[in-house]
Amino acid sequence: MSESTSELTLQAGELDAADELSKLRERFVLDDAVYLDGNSLGALPANVPGAVADVVHRQWGELRIRSWDESGWWTAPERIGDRIAPLVGAAPGQIVVGDSTSVNVFKAVVAAVRLAEEDGEGGEGRDEILVDATTFPTDGYIAESAARMTGRTLRPVTPAEVPDALSSRTAAVLLNHVDYRTGRLHDLPGLTAAIHEAGAYAVWDLCHSAGALPVGLDAHGVDLAVGCTYKYLNGGPGSPAYLYVRRDLQPRFDSPLPGWNSHVEPFGMSPAYEPVAGARRGRVGTPDILSMLALEAALEVWDGVSIESVRAKSLALTDFFLQCVTSYVPEGCVESLTPTPHTERGSQVALRCDNAGEVMKHLITEGVIGDFRHPDVLRFGFTPLYVGFGDVERAALVLAQTLESLD
Ligand SMILES: *Cc1c(COP(=O)(O)O)cnc(C)c1O
Repeated sequence: MSESTSELTLQAGELDAADELSKLRERFVLDDAVYLDGNSLGALPANVPGAVADVVHRQWGELRIRSWDESGWWTAPERIGDRIAPLVGAAPGQIVVGDSTSVNVFKAVVAAVRLAEEDGEGGEGRDEILVDATTFPTDGYIAESAARMTGRTLRPVTPAEVPDALSSRTAAVLLNHVDYRTGRLHDLPGLTAAIHEAGAYAVWDLCHSAGALPVGLDAHGVDLAVGCTYKYLNGGPGSPAYLYVRRDLQPRFDSPLPGWNSHVEPFGMSPAYEPVAGARRGRVGTPDILSMLALEAALEVWDGVSIESVRAKSLALTDFFLQCVTSYVPEGCVESLTPTPHTERGSQVALRCDNAGEVMKHLITEGVIGDFRHPDVLRFGFTPLYVGFGDVERAALVLAQTLESLD
C-alpha cells in the first residue's frame, strides 16, 4: 500500500469539493450504492418518470391519434437525433433515432458497401469488408451477414491492424470507438483518415464513447456511425439507437431497409419506393414512441453540460480509481487491461483477476455495482454525471476487502 485509506479518503473529498459537475447527481434517481455500471445501463434521470407519465396519460390517453402531429411524435426521430448531435460533434440534420444498434449496424454496413460499389471504377473490385476483431459480438455477427448478402468477404482484424489491412479491395470498415471489454479508446481521426486514403468508407460504433467523451464525427469526416442510448446517454432499457449519415453522403445513402417511414411521401401509400432526403432516410417503420420520448426527457440532463467537462472528469475518475486500486489491492491480485495513456482510454476500467465472476457477485452484495465479462474481467464504468470521487475510493476499498475475504 503506497497511500493509506485516510489519505485517499481525504483526497477524494477534496476532488469532490472541486468538481463542478458534482451537482448533476441530483438530476438522477440513485441510492447509496456505488453505481459503476452506467456503461451497461445508465441510471434513471429524475425527470423521466413524469415525462413518460405525460406521454402515456395525456398524449396517448387523451389526445390519442392527434399526438402524431400535436405532440410531435412523427418528427421525434429527427428531433431527438438533433439533441444527440452536439454530444457526438455532429451538426443538425444528420442523425436519426430508432431501431436497435444491431439493426443500425446492418443499415450502415450495407449502405457503406453500396456507396463503395457506386464509386464506379475500382468500386467493383472492392470485395472486402474489414471488421474490428475485438468488437462487441453483435457487430461482428451482423457484419458477417451483411458481407454474405452483398457478396463481400469479411476480414476480422484488430483496429491496430487496420492500416496495413486496407487496400484497393476494401469497401467498408466497421470499428468500435471504445472496446467494450478493455475500455481502450481507438484512434477515430487517424483510422478514419487511413480508411479514406484507401478509398473506403468508415462506419463507427459509438456505444461506449457517446456521452462519455468528445467524438467529433463532423470534424473527422466520419462517413456513417451508430450508437445506443441506454449506456452513457441514460435513455433507459432498450431505448432506441441512432444512425449518423454524413450530410454529403445522404443523397447516396441507399438503405437496405427502405420502410415507409423513409418514403418521401409516407402517407401517399405508393407501391413504388422513393426515399426522402436528409437524415429521415435512415428511418424504417413506426418509431417506438414510448421509449423514444423517455430518451428525449433523459437527454435534458445534458442541458448546460459540455462533453469536454465530462471527459475531463471521466479521466480524473479513472485515474483516481487506478491510483486507489494500486494503493489498496495487494500487488499481483488484479491486472488492469485499460490503457494508461489518456489518449487510449474510454470511461471504464477493466481489471483481470482470478475468480472474477465470484468477486463481482460479492462486490454487488457490498453495494459496488460493476459487471463481469467472460471469462475473467471485472468491468467498472464511470459516468461523470453521477459518479463522484468518494464513490471511486469506496469501490477500490471494497474491492480490496473482497479479494482478501475470498482469498
Ligand atoms: C452495447 C453495444 C451494442 C448493443 O447493441 P443492441 O442492438 O442495442 O443490443 C452494440 N455494439 C456495441 C459496441 C455495444 O457496446
